[in-house]
Amino acid sequence: SEPVLEIRKLSVDYGLGDEAVHAVREVDLTLHRGEVLGLAGESGSGKSTLAYGLTRLLPPPGVVSGGEVIHHPVDGPPVDVLSLSPARLRAYRWAETSIVFQGAMNSLNPVHRISTQLLDVIRAHEPGMSAPARRARAAELLRLVGISADRLDAYPHQLSGGMRQRVMIGMALALEPQVVIMDEPTTALDVVMQRQILAQLAELRERLGFAVLFITHDLSLLVEFSDRIAIMYGGRIVEQAPAAELYAAPLHPYTDGLLHSFPALRGPRRELTGIPGSPPDLRAMPAGCAFHPRCPRVVEPCATRLPPLGPPADPPGGRRAVACWRHPVAEGAGR
Ligand code: ATP
Ligand code: MG
Repeated sequence: SEPVLEIRKLSVDYGLGDEAVHAVREVDLTLHRGEVLGLAGESGSGKSTLAYGLTRLLPPPGVVSGGEVIHHPVDGPPVDVLSLSPARLRAYRWAETSIVFQGAMNSLNPVHRISTQLLDVIRAHEPGMSAPARRARAAELLRLVGISADRLDAYPHQLSGGMRQRVMIGMALALEPQVVIMDEPTTALDVVMQRQILAQLAELRERLGFAVLFITHDLSLLVEFSDRIAIMYGGRIVEQAPAAELYAAPLHPYTDGLLHSFPALRGPRRELTGIPGSPPDLRAMPAGCAFHPRCPRVVEPCATRLPPLGPPADPPGGRRAVACWRHPVAEGAGR
């Protein structure tokens, strides 16, 4: 299907010059219309940095140091997101791509009713709408995320964490964006909630047709709810595949390690081995493949040469890509 968001060679640094931490490195990622794309990787792999970089919401000292982000609206020419003026960017943000931050459920203002906060978003973008129409729209958005409209005038503290998170999703959907980015917290305690939210987003996606970039460290959730999965390590995408293929036959040893870090959902039980060692220090990245010091299947070039990301020659994978010397990229694949 056609792309809605194309990320090309995106790099993000924190700080400048010799002190810079290269948190995201030359990431190529395409989000297709209406798909759920999962992004997984251990803490510190650069997932949030990628999301903030592509929406230009990086906190200082974060800077996009290279690459392109192209958004394809339903109609009209492609938009180069990284060169939008501040005014165009504000309009773009809720209307075309909206983001639900890590910890968003705590970002509702405690002193204002839910209705006030939803109405603010609607009013900012649809100043011509009458007050009753706005209120009806706010109630509809709550119902959409499974909250009964009589909670519209509740205060945030009167709602559970899961409900607050769903209010944030309702806000993100207020202007019917084509892309919703959801950055989830990394605490294991939230897994039950993450699962409810992801199930609901996937269902809403069926009805409304937006694409989702869902970020989590929990690969098991993604296997269940996403169409495709991208795996990040040390700021780079190391594997990308349709969810079922990635689960059935991971190609990158890091993906394999992540899959063995949680209990199997169905089918034969996997032995839980986890991944020994710890994520790389971004200030002192190992040469070659960043994963090689932890990799159980190192071969000759791994310690010295960076493997390119591309479709593997064996098994021939049309919609897959991997960056691993064990799976050489198909000849003529371009990348
Ligand atoms: P988590 O799963 O914990 O949310 P993540 O994959 O989202 O992790 P990021 O938050 O994007 O990871 O961080 C990527 C790297 O960038 C980390 O090594 C982090 O230490 C570094 N980093 C993040 N923010 C800053 C900052 N303000 N200054 C310097 N380094 C930063
Ligand atoms: Mg994060």
